[in-house]
Amino acid sequence: MIKLYRYTFAVVDLPRLASNVATIRDALGPDVAVLVAAKANGYGHGAVPVARAVVHGGAEALGLASVEEALEIRRAKSPLSLLVLGAINADGAVAASMADIAVTLSGSPEEIENLPTMPKPLAVHLKLDTGMGRLGLRTAEELIATAKAVVARPDLRLVGVYTHLASADDPDGRHAQGQIARLEHALASLTEAGIQVPIVHASNTAGALYHSDWRYQMVRIGIGAYGYSPNSEWPLQLPLRPVMHLYSVITRVATLDAGETVSYGATFVAPRRMRVATVPIGYADGYFRSLSNSGITAVKGVEVPVVGRVCMDQLMIDVTDVEGVDVGDVVTLFGRYSPSSWDGGNIAKCKEAQRAEWIVQTFCRTDRIGEVSLDRVAKLAGTISYELLCAVSPRVVRFYVPLTPERRFS
Ligand SMILES: *Cc1c(COP(=O)(O)O)cnc(C)c1O
Repeated sequence: MIKLYRYTFAVVDLPRLASNVATIRDALGPDVAVLVAAKANGYGHGAVPVARAVVHGGAEALGLASVEEALEIRRAKSPLSLLVLGAINADGAVAASMADIAVTLSGSPEEIENLPTMPKPLAVHLKLDTGMGRLGLRTAEELIATAKAVVARPDLRLVGVYTHLASADDPDGRHAQGQIARLEHALASLTEAGIQVPIVHASNTAGALYHSDWRYQMVRIGIGAYGYSPNSEWPLQLPLRPVMHLYSVITRVATLDAGETVSYGATFVAPRRMRVATVPIGYADGYFRSLSNSGITAVKGVEVPVVGRVCMDQLMIDVTDVEGVDVGDVVTLFGRYSPSSWDGGNIAKCKEAQRAEWIVQTFCRTDRIGEVSLDRVAKLAGTISYELLCAVSPRVVRFYVPLTPERRFS
């Protein structure tokens, strides 16, 4: 039973995640494998529940940042193929081989030769840097030399070659097109050198969904699966919906006179007599301090601003213009507006043993009356949806809408 002594929580809609993946899968067609990026705790949603939902959506693989992250998924007995996207050390390669986890390598032939003998065959994807400037071999010649070193070892299996696009979400596609041209040149050189590569992949969400000819044998979908467009100014033409929704519950409502101030630094001065509510969520929960005096939240279906600085564990909102706001009412930080049945302290009144289930059930029964757009909050915070999602800290309890067999999509 999940205990909740502070009413700050996220609802993670796993059937929605599964249907987003299924929607993307349908748009891509049957010939393209789908790897879902589940690094950073599944973009903050919880890596293991994400792994389960993604199977329902019909994906083939998961991408993780480290061997540590991949091992967490393996321990949870996920049937998906796992690929570590980040750089690893020799111990990581050995651990990955034992757990049937594929890895990304982009070292020199000597580095490949010097790897310890693998206890089990290790699946290898080679990475080519075509313009991201982050990881990968730099030229077709380097790629061929390293690929030969991999093929020469009986304990390594060359399964893939890939690159990562830096600006596939830019409507001006020239940079990304240049990257694809470099990849194509390297692939042609590999073929000429007699090296077969079963799986080529290049596209993230943006590459896969904005450019249908950059899909190769597999795509790596992150943000789209979680319901957001890679570029908030360039909406995806697919019915993808947010998976995570963030809420907290008002702990105090006070009436301030004109001239009184709110929070650290006294940066907010009440321009009139006003009602200010305190909400127990702060930057240590992942609600950015840069949203001080600028964030937008919703109470009783009405959007209200954050006033004063966001503190570590709390923030204040202006509820002057919302009728009847009181302690126990629910605040939406991002995502679907909270159900009205949650207001009036009903979450607190609910029996502890039934609370989690009641929250999830009432969430599912609520019509989509509106939402606080995460893209909008991210813009106000000077960042992108990605960063706000993976910032939601472990202190925030996640309630999961369960996957049911009837909602299987694959
Ligand atoms: C995170 C990641 C992705 C997914 O990117 P999105 O923009 O979220 O779709 C794809 N490829 C690599 C290498 C990544 O690290």
